[in-house]
Amino acid sequence: MNKTPNKLLIIILSVFLIQSAFSQKTPKNVVFMIGDGMGLAQVYAGMMANRNHLELERCTTIGFSKTYSADNFTTDSGAGGTALACGVKTRNHMIGMNPDSVAVQSILEEASKFKLSTGIVVACALTHATPASYIAHQVNREMNEEIATDYLKTDIDVFIGGGRKYFDDRTIDDRNLTAELREKKYKIAYTLDEVKAVTHGKLAGLLYEDQNPGMPERGTMLPDATQTALNILSNNKKGFFLMVEGSQIDWACHNNNYVQLMKEMLDFDQTIGKVLDFAKKDGNTLVIITADHETGGMTIIDGEVGTDKLKVLYSTKNHSGVPVPVYAYGPGSENFSGFMENISFKAKIEKLLKFKK
Ligand code: MG
Ligand code: ZN
Repeated sequence: MNKTPNKLLIIILSVFLIQSAFSQKTPKNVVFMIGDGMGLAQVYAGMMANRNHLELERCTTIGFSKTYSADNFTTDSGAGGTALACGVKTRNHMIGMNPDSVAVQSILEEASKFKLSTGIVVACALTHATPASYIAHQVNREMNEEIATDYLKTDIDVFIGGGRKYFDDRTIDDRNLTAELREKKYKIAYTLDEVKAVTHGKLAGLLYEDQNPGMPERGTMLPDATQTALNILSNNKKGFFLMVEGSQIDWACHNNNYVQLMKEMLDFDQTIGKVLDFAKKDGNTLVIITADHETGGMTIIDGEVGTDKLKVLYSTKNHSGVPVPVYAYGPGSENFSGFMENISFKAKIEKLLKFKK
């Protein structure tokens, strides 16, 4: 009879142990990294050029994303970015809107509403289709000045890239958005050194007049600006959402130039390494790496392992319709395996960050 309390204790302990074994840790921070045009052949070309190794191999979960848009088997970066950012399939060339031209909130805007810090770091103009999808709502991706205006309608903490002229040398109105950003307490940085000097507060890094140069001219802009963004955003104890884009993988592949692609791939992978180092140390950061689509219909039919000597073929100067790989690391990463729709990321992140049940 007097053994009953012990039995009860064992049952309670067992339940507790089973529960803790199955309760998965959820992230506080999310870094979403997009290699524009980065299909499997692009990743493998970078891997070969880098002695058969990439930082992104540290990711523990791998899946695939289906990239078709609402009106096209082969997406552009507007519909592709909108799918990843806003969770809706839309028409090609649209930004942050559904096919009926109704604005849809992005995961970045939602994170900001939930008092997380937010950021965008890209290797192209900040008004280009991919970053625009996270912050702007316009019917056409070419509306650079309207997209720049949308940056000021949000609470975004850090944005670093090119496209300065769309902020301060405008044709659609007389506004000087750089001056308006200063009034909103943003530090404005025109050089990478000025970016790197910032450790807290709000930062607008407008590093180039129009598009950023390609590699190697761009130097360490993308990894260094990403590190700065991580430093600033991690001041918020509530957490942060950061989008980072290796923007010019796509451009190299539009030109069917695999030598340039390798340089852009390694720049993006070096940036991935910095983010994974941060996530490993932090322990509360989920990192997701994927693409909006593949570019070039690229295949590798021969080569020397561990070198940049590859025999590469392309089937198009445009995008292709194949699924793209997804890589994930950190708490919650197990949710990103298997075949996924490109519109599934927003809902998964919302759930993991407890924005929605
Ligand atoms: Mg892009
Ligand atoms: Zn493209």
